Amino acid sequence: MTPPSTTTEPRLRDRAIVRSIPMLPRRLVQRMSAPYIAGASLDDAITTVEGLAARGMGTTLDVLGEAISRREEAEATRDAYLAAIARLGEIDAPRERVRNVSVKLTALGLGIDDRLVHDNVDAIAAAMAEIDGFVRVDMEDSPYTDATLELYRALRAAGRDNLGIVVQSYLKRTRADVEQLAAEGARVRVVKGIYVEPEAIAWRDMDSINRSYLDLCRILGEAGCHAAYATHDDRLIDGCRTLVAELGLDKDRYEFQMLLGVREEARADLLGQGHPVRVYVPFGAQWYEYSVRRLRENPRVAGHVAKATIDGWRRRLPGGR
Ligand SMILES: Cc1cc2nc3c(=O)[nH]c(=O)nc-3n(C[C@H](O)[C@H](O)[C@H](O)COP(=O)(O)OP(=O)(O)OC[C@H]3O[C@@H](n4cnc5c(N)ncnc54)[C@H](O)[C@@H]3O)c2cc1C
Repeated sequence: MTPPSTTTEPRLRDRAIVRSIPMLPRRLVQRMSAPYIAGASLDDAITTVEGLAARGMGTTLDVLGEAISRREEAEATRDAYLAAIARLGEIDAPRERVRNVSVKLTALGLGIDDRLVHDNVDAIAAAMAEIDGFVRVDMEDSPYTDATLELYRALRAAGRDNLGIVVQSYLKRTRADVEQLAAEGARVRVVKGIYVEPEAIAWRDMDSINRSYLDLCRILGEAGCHAAYATHDDRLIDGCRTLVAELGLDKDRYEFQMLLGVREEARADLLGQGHPVRVYVPFGAQWYEYSVRRLRENPRVAGHVAKATIDGWRRRLPGGR
């Protein structure tokens, strides 16, 4: 690999590194993505959860794994969650901080077999209920929106009241979904949305997405529903802080959420101001796809780590500097 020229404009260099990720050794990609992933093992994840809890933050644990095609893979993901939940139940920290997981339905069998995904999520929710914990159902791309809402509602109707859902502010349908969820007293995480969606169903411009985001938060706040403001965007963070003050929301009605490794200074500011903060903590053997997504969003991290690695190699060369 040719080391990046030190005279190259850093941003161009960083973007070039990100474009070349598919050709880079996995160990280097793993190093670059280290800030965003708790690690490959459950022990790594528990250490991260304990560390954040000790610093006053909540966490939601995510077992990495997407795009599966076999029942056994869905069952393996379920079992990984059950093992994680057993460990979360043993942590000596306030329950609401650490007893929280996020699940992606496609990793648990959505798209393979409706019964399979239902039973897998039910098993996770049941295990979480035993330790008085909470399960957040992540929202994936639009072919799965209806099925995700349906499964969430079916499980809630069957008595699983420790389930929450996610809504995406870029989807034009979401306002109607949120009005209904608010009437049902749902616990809702609000995000912009991370997938590339057709223009017919999703806003593309940031002003519309942000306006929609704050509208959704207002609907939930006014209905007295618990809302998780999941964003790293200063404009939205400010908007949500203003909303909390205006509606006089208690701390058990809202929280801010951020991804592990992203905007830690903003996270610390919110915590310092007394707002509840929860960090999304992904871990697991299938770290690669998640890592590439995070690095694409922030090429600077890729650039820093690649430079540090190359500097290390140079120092180890005979006569290196
Ligand atoms: C806790 C949590 C859960 C989520 N769950 C879902 C889900 O279930 N479904 C879904 O579709 N989407 C989910 N998302 C992703 C979300 O939809 C957005 O794609 C993502 O949060 C980026 O949007 P943003 O609001 O943070 O604003 P952006 O405008 O993307 O980011 C604002 C600023 O944050 C900083 N930043 C952003 N990303 C990085 C990074 N990787 N490294 C360093 N700095 C960065 C940059 O300074 C950027 O300018 C989730 C996000 C969070 C935080």
